[in-house]
Amino acid sequence: MNDAVALDPEQAAADKKAAHEINKLSKRLHRQVGQAVTDFNMIEEGDKVMVCLSGGKDSFAMLDILLNLQQRAPIKFELVAVNLDQKQPGFPEDVLPGYLKSRGVPFHIEEQDTYSVVKRVIPEGKTTCGLCSRLRRGILYRVAQQLGATKIALGHHRDDIVTTLFLNMFFGSRMKGMPPKLVSDDGKNVVIRPLAYVKEPDLVRWAEHRQFPIIPCNLCGSQENLQRVQVKAMINEWERRYPGRIDNIFTAMGSIVTSHMMDKALFPFETIKATGVADAGGDIAFDDDESCETPQPSSVIRLMREED
Ligand code: SF4
Repeated sequence: MNDAVALDPEQAAADKKAAHEINKLSKRLHRQVGQAVTDFNMIEEGDKVMVCLSGGKDSFAMLDILLNLQQRAPIKFELVAVNLDQKQPGFPEDVLPGYLKSRGVPFHIEEQDTYSVVKRVIPEGKTTCGLCSRLRRGILYRVAQQLGATKIALGHHRDDIVTTLFLNMFFGSRMKGMPPKLVSDDGKNVVIRPLAYVKEPDLVRWAEHRQFPIIPCNLCGSQENLQRVQVKAMINEWERRYPGRIDNIFTAMGSIVTSHMMDKALFPFETIKATGVADAGGDIAFDDDESCETPQPSSVIRLMREED
């Protein structure tokens, strides 16, 4: 008697489709990270990259993808994972070392009780994230120096970058995003964001597929910054109604036409003069850009129809 269980054809087809989708996702993630690294010259021969691992889906995915790219890259570079154990109550301190050992990654766990400091200094009910982030930043910069790291890699992705742009516009009156690569504010470290081109929903799916041992990010009991949550919800709602909008905003951040903004430090408005030479990049007076026609109010549309 044959004990083999006959495969349900529908299940087999669903499994095949799921495997195909994961394969596509894997290729996309590795391609996008490789592209961002190349476009911004994030990692160079001989670099020692300190990969900041919080225990969230983004930093797990970043480490995972960088480890794969390290095997295939034409250059040699080192990776060292660093986690800052901030001593939040309930932080499962064995999870990350266990995972990192299983992946064979060199790592360092920095134990610093910033939780107690923040709780002592910030009055009950006030948001603790500002001070907490400042403390964390200073510690990570110091650890990078101690480890001899030449780059600090952070797990911010495309959606974080777009959200930051809107936060800075809405609440800071500045068009300032989150750069893929920049020297840190202490001037001593180069910070890189290899996930800059990656969409957050892709990271969610990758984390599920790879079954990263994710550590919840609410151990400190603080609400995630409310303004960021609201702006993110707004952007996601736009994306739901007009798919592709986040990509367009993100692309726009790399395609700034300084002559059509108002920053006098970036364009010499005071001294420009007519040249007599036609220039497609010049002002088009009363015309709208074809891609940004102002929607007509319904009353105007009715009048136009009546005149037809
Ligand atoms: S959520 Fe908690 S751990 Fe994260 S920055 Fe805010 S205070 Fe710090």
